[in-house]
Amino acid sequence: MAAPLSPDAFARALRAEGVPLTEHADWRTHHRNHKGAWGPVNGVMLHHTAGSSSVGFCRRGTPGLPGPLCVGVVAKDGTVHLVGYGRTNHAGNGCAAVLAAVREERALPKPGPDAVDGNARFYGFEIENLGDGADPYPAAQLDAVERLSAALCRAHGWSAASVLGHKEWTRRKIDPSFPMDGMRGRIGARLAGRPGPGRPAPPKPPASAYAPFPGGAFFVPGHRDPLFTAVGRRLVAEGCGRYSVGPGPVWGAADRASYAAWQRKLGYRGTDADGTPGRASWERLRVPRA
Ligand SMILES: [Zn+2]
Repeated sequence: MAAPLSPDAFARALRAEGVPLTEHADWRTHHRNHKGAWGPVNGVMLHHTAGSSSVGFCRRGTPGLPGPLCVGVVAKDGTVHLVGYGRTNHAGNGCAAVLAAVREERALPKPGPDAVDGNARFYGFEIENLGDGADPYPAAQLDAVERLSAALCRAHGWSAASVLGHKEWTRRKIDPSFPMDGMRGRIGARLAGRPGPGRPAPPKPPASAYAPFPGGAFFVPGHRDPLFTAVGRRLVAEGCGRYSVGPGPVWGAADRASYAAWQRKLGYRGTDADGTPGRASWERLRVPRA
């Protein structure tokens, strides 16, 4: 969760990642913020336009769905047209469990019923494509999608797990028409590798005394790792221990119950307190390196 970037910081982040930008009139102040919340933001949502001549349309919208319909349109040549900034009519309502998973940077569940406002929560980008499975996404266009997504993740300290497709947000939609796992893989590789052109290398962070978040998939029942003992000790210290024996190095039901107690202590409820660690709760637990 984060406050949205200012328009200037947003454009600067994209340029630093090597995204070619075209700025359309008044994009900084063209938004729907008067109709609802803008922020806190949790990620980047990708769409396809399902039309050909789309920049003006995405800026204006229709009487029934006024523009802007996104913050940026990614043209076939890889140029990103900035048409608005802030709350835009791109996401509509979507699934609360998906929002929870994005917030914790966990694997996304299949979308359930539409329940929460996505326009407040995501930077929306439309990618020019008919979405018919035949219209190609040129390499330059996919490169721009990778770069703009990485730029916003870098600016917010997010991983590639904070990027989702409209089709992953709601059962109503099928866009974008490329596999999102593949695009997240590219974004993750970019975030792990070299910084974008024009961007100075970040200073090396001092080594933290705490273990970094190993990812939700690390916490598989029966998996053995000394880190689990360290997690259990911290949970006991926080008054969240639910162990009759242990804690020990094999992740099991007592660890999960203890972690769920920690998540509830932090104020998480429902599927957010299911005992599977997410990044935010992990960082607050401050587990010493094992
Ligand atoms: Zn869409």
